[in-house]
Amino acid sequence: MRILLVFSIFSVALCSRRTFVGDQILRVQAKDNAQLDILRELEAMKHLQIDFWRSPARPELPVDIRVPFTTLQRLKVFLESNDIDYSIMIEDVQELLDQEQQEMKASKFHERSINTFSYSTYHTLDEIYSWIDSLVMEYPKLVSKIDIGQSYEGRPIYALKFSTGGNKPAIWIDTGIHAREWITQATGIWTAKKIASNHGVDASLTSILNKMDIFLEIVTNPDGYAYTHSTNRMWRKTRSVNVGSSCIGVDPNRNWDAGFGGPGSSSNPCAETYHGAYPHSEPEISSVVDFILAHGNVKALLTIHSYSQMLLFPYGYTSNLAPDHQELNELAKLATNALSSLHGTKYTYGSTIATIYQADGTTTDWGYNNGIKYSYTFELRDTGRYGFILPAEQIIPTAEETWLALMAIMEHVRDHS
Ligand SMILES: [Zn+2]
Repeated sequence: MRILLVFSIFSVALCSRRTFVGDQILRVQAKDNAQLDILRELEAMKHLQIDFWRSPARPELPVDIRVPFTTLQRLKVFLESNDIDYSIMIEDVQELLDQEQQEMKASKFHERSINTFSYSTYHTLDEIYSWIDSLVMEYPKLVSKIDIGQSYEGRPIYALKFSTGGNKPAIWIDTGIHAREWITQATGIWTAKKIASNHGVDASLTSILNKMDIFLEIVTNPDGYAYTHSTNRMWRKTRSVNVGSSCIGVDPNRNWDAGFGGPGSSSNPCAETYHGAYPHSEPEISSVVDFILAHGNVKALLTIHSYSQMLLFPYGYTSNLAPDHQELNELAKLATNALSSLHGTKYTYGSTIATIYQADGTTTDWGYNNGIKYSYTFELRDTGRYGFILPAEQIIPTAEETWLALMAIMEHVRDHS
């Protein structure tokens, strides 16, 4: 009886996680704007349950979509009948997810030690939060944990502070604002360890920390991240309830008060780019806004996403050039060159609107409009071979190369502010 009970609890736990058996990732290549419009119409048809990993932007940029097994045949016929080219990037999404789960299970860390922790696997929210405590214990003079607020579902939101004392001008870095972009939280963990262990060792980083504090928020969307582990690996948004809709969540990178509510976001609560009822409606965003404004001396705002291999800067909501466009563009070139020098990973860079598409209510535009000149969005690996399901073996190479770009930007900020 006891065995049966244990077994049935186990089954419930397993069954609550959504599976993606037979789902495919298709790369769709529109030939012209007319074909892009057809893809935009598809994106608006929420009942088809097509998950746009990369939305229609411009003909030269591919559109990546996850298509549920049940609609796959119909969708392929539809694309073919409209003469729209596509190829299969991932044959069976669930196969990759099973592999990811097995790797996580195989490397569960049992000790609360930052040295036994596996930096080359993905981790749950609980594991990351206890790792944060170990990091603070290991480097008490440099690192502290700041509770900056509470998520919609009541989880604490933490930022790490790296400081040699006092309140200096600051660099803000966040990862994981979009839940399913797991490479970013993993890069955040590696980066935190790098900053802590390189202080006093690496001359350049040490000089940055002599002049500035670094804040790093690793899990910027804790509810969403927990949900990608418990229930739906493909979740992007927050987990707030939308009044008058059965659809959950707001796109936390359309919720900022900078061009809020424009056409580069959606007013449909069921859309992946839903901007929310009003600016900073999401506690995950208002926590950061309140913290940065109260600090009053943040010089750089670096927000890390995946995927596409891009480094973007303001603006996203207008095609007007930012007053500092030239400097931001040159620094982006320097940073992406540094990044590419390690493993040859190619990045594109430029303003958000010119490089991808109009995006309204984004982090970097808010930062820039609030006096933070060095506001950048990273889109980490890859360019779509694995997309959001980047194999864990790529965590360390990704973090290593990203570090070189972060250092290039932080050195410039140190010397120019
Ligand atoms: Zn993102």
